[in-house]
Amino acid sequence: KSFNDFKLSENILRALKSLNYEKPTDVQSKVISLALEKNDIVVKSQTGSGKTAAFGIPICEMVEWEENKPQALILTPTRELAAQVKEDITNIGRYKRIKATAVYGKQPFDKQKSELKQKTHVVVGTPGRVLDHIEKGTFKLERLDYLIIDEADEMLNMGFIDEVEAIIQKLPTNRVTMLFSATLPEDIENLCYKYMKQPIDIEV
Ligand code: AMP
Repeated sequence: KSFNDFKLSENILRALKSLNYEKPTDVQSKVISLALEKNDIVVKSQTGSGKTAAFGIPICEMVEWEENKPQALILTPTRELAAQVKEDITNIGRYKRIKATAVYGKQPFDKQKSELKQKTHVVVGTPGRVLDHIEKGTFKLERLDYLIIDEADEMLNMGFIDEVEAIIQKLPTNRVTMLFSATLPEDIENLCYKYMKQPIDIEV
């Protein structure tokens, strides 16, 4: 398989070239076309498999540049992962001028607040701080079309699952949801069953 087999725009393909991504990894081959067709997906995969680009590529392809309110939310268990994912999205969306904003704890709320006031296509963050911005009205959800829950099992281990659920309950129901996890414990399965629409299971 090649990245040219997917219906991707020239500006995304150009970014993948400049990142030296020559061909899709296993997880990317399986996820990208299903995501572009707006399916809900549950992916069992490890870090290092290229999972960030597996959701990053279709998200960058699908968001509308003209829209000012955030269209995609990516939840991560840690600040480090949020910063990394933000960087990856920025790189993949470079030639489409996609703007990603990271929001996480132990960083000034007001700086994030003013970033969220500017045009932002993708918000990447940890559950506590994301919920904080939602409740204070600094993160506008009405155009939120895509939710990605990354490393869901870690989210559970770190005790964030209730915050994740509280966030999901505030999002528009007419959205696409993708969940990535190395393992699928019962609490995660329940979350998928409760909040996803006929999700397609993928294992790599
Ligand atoms: P991840 O599993 O998302 O943490 O990605 C692991 C590493 O693989 C990262 O350094 C990515 O930049 C890299 N990567 C992701 N997709 C590809 C690809 N298609 N070709 C080469 N490297 C990739």
